[in-house]
Amino acid sequence: MKVGIVGTGPAALMAGSQYLLQGFEVSFYDHKKAPARKFLVAGHGGFNLTHSESKSDFLSRYDCDEIKKCVEIFDNQALIEWLKFIGIETYSGSTGKIFPVKGTKPIDVLNAWISWLKKQNATFHFEHKMIDFDSNSIVFQTISSEIKVNFDKMVFALGGGSWSIKISKKQY
Ligand SMILES: Cc1cc2nc3c(=O)[nH]c(=O)nc-3n(C[C@H](O)[C@H](O)[C@H](O)COP(=O)(O)OP(=O)(O)OC[C@H]3O[C@@H](n4cnc5c(N)ncnc54)[C@H](O)[C@@H]3O)c2cc1C
Repeated sequence: MKVGIVGTGPAALMAGSQYLLQGFEVSFYDHKKAPARKFLVAGHGGFNLTHSESKSDFLSRYDCDEIKKCVEIFDNQALIEWLKFIGIETYSGSTGKIFPVKGTKPIDVLNAWISWLKKQNATFHFEHKMIDFDSNSIVFQTISSEIKVNFDKMVFALGGGSWSIKISKKQY
């Protein structure tokens, strides 16, 4: 069964990882030239990956029942174990936030994750912008053409619209 995942941020990589563990054939697509740009930027100001609080406290941070159900299945502890599984050791900071061990940069976490995904035969397609889809296919705009790819399952992990690089007025 073929799964097409649009996006290569952490949500996409985790969705793909879970499908791979269940035996699906996974392909990632992103309109950028490289994966997880925001994930890499996130590391600049201190790279907390999750929190060490109890499951009930962690769950109380979510107010949507559907999301709570997902977090119940894959909680903060599951993420810490997942990171260990791909070779990333973590520690709990003084505020309870979980960080990769000192000296581990965001790019190291990303590389460990991508390397695990590739070992499971996941494929990556960059400079592929999703421009349309229907119930079993996605249309991508590549540099040279428009292509339509069929999938059994599709995941759209496109991120939010909350962050953009601010251009200073001085640059005009
Ligand atoms: C400055 C900063 C600091 C942060 N610090 C932290 C932190 O310390 N800890 C933490 O947990 N979080 C932090 N975050 C938040 C974290 O980066 C985001 O929550 C996370 O990246 C969201 O992941 P995502 O996979 O949902 O989306 P994204 O990371 O935004 O990924 C979405 C992907 O989809 C691709 N895409 C979108 N539309 C299309 C399309 N039409 N076709 C093809 N591809 C498409 C994009 O190119 C992108 O690669 C920080 C964010 C910022 C900006």
